Amino acid sequence: MKNKILRGVKVAEGIEIGSIVIYPGYENEVLPFYILRESDKQAEIHRLSTAIDSVKQELKALQSIFEKENDPYSARIFEVSYALLEEPWLLEGAQKIIENESRNAEYALQKVIAHKLRMFEQASSVAVRQRGALLEEVARKILKKLIGKDDTLASIPEGKILVAPFLSTFEVAQIPRNKIKGLALSHGGMTSHLAILAQTFDIPVVVGIKDLMRYVRDGQLAILDGYRGLIILEPDESTLRTYEAKIKHYLQLHDKLVDIKDLPPVTIDGRNIELCANINLPAEVKPAIEFNAEGIGLLRTEFIFLEDMLDEEQQFNIYSDIADKIYPGSVIIRTFDIGADKLAPYVREDNPFLGWRAIRLLLKEKKLLRTQLRAILRASRRGNVKIMIPMVTTVEEVLEVKKLLNKIKRDLRNEDVEFDENIDIGVMIETPASAIMAEVLAKEVRFFSIGTNDLTQYTMAVDRNNPYVSELYDPLHPALLRLMKNVIIAGHAAHSWVGVCGEMAHDPMAIPILIGLGVDELSVAPRFLLKTKEIIRHLSYKETKAIAEKVLDMKNAAEVRRFMKDVLKEEFHLNNVIDLDSP
Ligand code: PEP
Ligand code: MG
Repeated sequence: MKNKILRGVKVAEGIEIGSIVIYPGYENEVLPFYILRESDKQAEIHRLSTAIDSVKQELKALQSIFEKENDPYSARIFEVSYALLEEPWLLEGAQKIIENESRNAEYALQKVIAHKLRMFEQASSVAVRQRGALLEEVARKILKKLIGKDDTLASIPEGKILVAPFLSTFEVAQIPRNKIKGLALSHGGMTSHLAILAQTFDIPVVVGIKDLMRYVRDGQLAILDGYRGLIILEPDESTLRTYEAKIKHYLQLHDKLVDIKDLPPVTIDGRNIELCANINLPAEVKPAIEFNAEGIGLLRTEFIFLEDMLDEEQQFNIYSDIADKIYPGSVIIRTFDIGADKLAPYVREDNPFLGWRAIRLLLKEKKLLRTQLRAILRASRRGNVKIMIPMVTTVEEVLEVKKLLNKIKRDLRNEDVEFDENIDIGVMIETPASAIMAEVLAKEVRFFSIGTNDLTQYTMAVDRNNPYVSELYDPLHPALLRLMKNVIIAGHAAHSWVGVCGEMAHDPMAIPILIGLGVDELSVAPRFLLKTKEIIRHLSYKETKAIAEKVLDMKNAAEVRRFMKDVLKEEFHLNNVIDLDSP
């Protein structure tokens, strides 16, 4: 099976050559269920409590690793999980089943967990339901211990390419960041939240490699190519040599990019584009500043939301710390986008992406929203904080948030608390309804940020995580471009600025089109800041306008991409800056 090439979706660039370590995950495990003899019951209870203790030890160890790495949010995930295992109902409940029903530990554990999950599901507060998601994760860990497959991500050997079918947010948090060389998954799409989190690792990441688990073996030599979105298993000599040369070439390109760090993101004919950073965790503000982001264009707060971890004071500390660090640039704080595939409140939905997510959830769980808005307002006293609402579908949602915001402002005034009276409020355009109705929304807000990750999924009716339909998932489809044009015209007519913060904002083929359509701001993960700036600096605004007009009339995304490949090479001479031969 020499040189077996498997294709997936590129998430984070880079090339690594190394041996593979497989993390099988839990999905396909078959659990043993059996009846116990009376004389075996005590030993079974002991087996279960040993497994629970061992998971507890692991959680404690993970908590202290992340505390040492100055990442209190990941540390808190493990602290809360540990506390769940400390609760007496778990072991006592399972023990009763072992004793009274003579069933084995796996069965007993599953039964008590299922019962508890049902209770969480019925709870009235999102904070309690949220614990259900964590409980499911720790239950899996205990079950894996019980069946003797207790491989943990924290103890994987160093310097390997990690391969897995799927990783949960919880598992991603356990990956020792500087230990692995690359990450390849059979599940997921480019904009899955798993992929977005993995982007912060600074290693190549390729997801959605459909047949990956069929062909990989532990210890196999592989090349992971995050530029082209592929993995080559057991490469032959000549492929290895080609890739070694490529690594050298990319290192040179990277060094060149560092040279433009202090230059402005401006086209050759003088159009300035505001270039900002998307961050998911407070620690990422550091690379954003290091690569000279003008501001934080998107702070995804949901990754720091967990159970009851963040009261107003804690949120205020995080937001004001980020606002202080990025000053005089500004930070756009997006209210919690909980639900769908992110750390989700524990509710079962047939279509979570079409369900109880983001602003829909916050408007029902007003306490969460009120606390967050108060914290944001208090952090706004220096005038460099903006509020953004995710997943808006109707203008009423915006009006309701504004009404609540005004009430909180009155409260803060009465309490003599300082805040920015003129704080900007904006919406994410990520549903077709909001894009089509942009004219109406524009009257209520000061800015739009187009969330192309979701706008693509909802417009093309294609799940952003599903590799089987990923061919349809392309924000360069003219259907999307036409919607975006409408949004930009509506925003500008109301004197609002319009930005793009989906992954599309760093796609070399998309950047000229977005600029030609008139976007004012691009917000990208910190690792893409320099490359995006370099591309902007090669463009002529005048030419991009003509290009944008032309692609709007094309039939499909493939035609747009073919055309843009030529444009990047022939018009803007970008072939020395980026790899235009990527498929
Ligand atoms: C988007 O949908 O484009 C976006 C930026 O939001 P998220 O990826 O967090 O859903
Ligand atoms: Mg979104």
